[in-house]
Amino acid sequence: KPPPDMPPSPHKSHFLQNSDNERVKVTVRSRPLTKAEESREDVIPVVFVNPDKSTVTVRRKGSFVDYTEFKFDAVLGASATQADVYAVAAQPIVLDVLEGYNGTIMAYGQTGAGKTYTLADVVINDAIQSRVEGIIPRSAANIFEYASNDKNHEYHISMSYIQIYMETIQDLLNPETTNLQIREAEDGGIFIAGVHEIEVKSLEDVVTLLMLGDCNRQCAFTKLNAHSSRSHAIVIITVEKKTFSLLDSTNSSEGRRISKGILVGKLFLVDLAGSERLKKSGSEGLRAVEAMSVNMSLTALGKCISARADPSITHVPFRDSKLTRLLQESLGGNTKTSLIINIAPCCDHIQETLSSLKFGIRAMKVGSRAILNFE
Ligand code: ADP
Repeated sequence: KPPPDMPPSPHKSHFLQNSDNERVKVTVRSRPLTKAEESREDVIPVVFVNPDKSTVTVRRKGSFVDYTEFKFDAVLGASATQADVYAVAAQPIVLDVLEGYNGTIMAYGQTGAGKTYTLADVVINDAIQSRVEGIIPRSAANIFEYASNDKNHEYHISMSYIQIYMETIQDLLNPETTNLQIREAEDGGIFIAGVHEIEVKSLEDVVTLLMLGDCNRQCAFTKLNAHSSRSHAIVIITVEKKTFSLLDSTNSSEGRRISKGILVGKLFLVDLAGSERLKKSGSEGLRAVEAMSVNMSLTALGKCISARADPSITHVPFRDSKLTRLLQESLGGNTKTSLIINIAPCCDHIQETLSSLKFGIRAMKVGSRAILNFE
């Protein structure tokens, strides 16, 4: 008999081996200068996206000799549209999820670099007419369109929205529940026990839940007088796809539909906490604890990524943080992962930009060569 907190949906598809079991795909997105930055004379751009769209050059302020070039799967500059980013960094993962694989799309970078804009931007017109902008609404639109055009399968699509703040998992769609726990199903699939999984039937449903979750998130942080950039926000969209075959249509006007099984694909959309190191002087009390917690989980993420990049490392420390434990399957290589490194182009942020790009370089090396000893 399954334990009471077993997930309602089957988890078999977690273990479908993706034949194209590739390394993490890394896309860099450099945002435009903000109006405030443009108006300052001392702010100059130091990040240059090269015409090959796969390398980026970072120069020290005013220097033509001190520069570093980094190569990624794709590099998008200020003129890249939300549709460009979706096509490069998200769509292949979403299509995989529709085939029953798990997929993760995460945005890494300092606060203000464009992570939320890239993932969650939605423009709401009158009467909740939403315009699709960022990766989350675009992914949802893509999934609903695909499902409505597929007459051979029946779809059940649901959504959860959580945040990880100071190593506790909070359900943003049900703020009464605090400190949810991560569990492992019998087949090894990772899930969050007791999290709300709400059925969504349209893009509007997804947008409404996003807004509700954001509102709950803001309320929680306002109460604590804290900033939401100190938590990781994660939207999980689960696509259950039931396969039917049409038999004996002569005996029944509708035909007889025989269930052959259910494929389950989970899409994790992760807006990581700001990667900046808070200056020691500025962080005391709660702020210092928050900063330590964020640094700890991002370091754990980096370690898991580095461990995978090095075939000689057999122990991957997934259990070092809630974030890596939850993303274990994504980082473990059975799923496709897309990492977006968001950077700001101006000289003020050069140290953070270099550190984010270095994080991306480490992630580029994550492949499936290593034989891993999962915890
Ligand atoms: P983060 O989530 O990394 O803290 P935000 O997504 O909130 O950063 O972005 C900071 C500001 O920059 C916001 O006002 C956002 O609208 C703007 N911004 C970020 N990326 C872009 C972009 N590619 N084009 C236009 N504005 C952007």
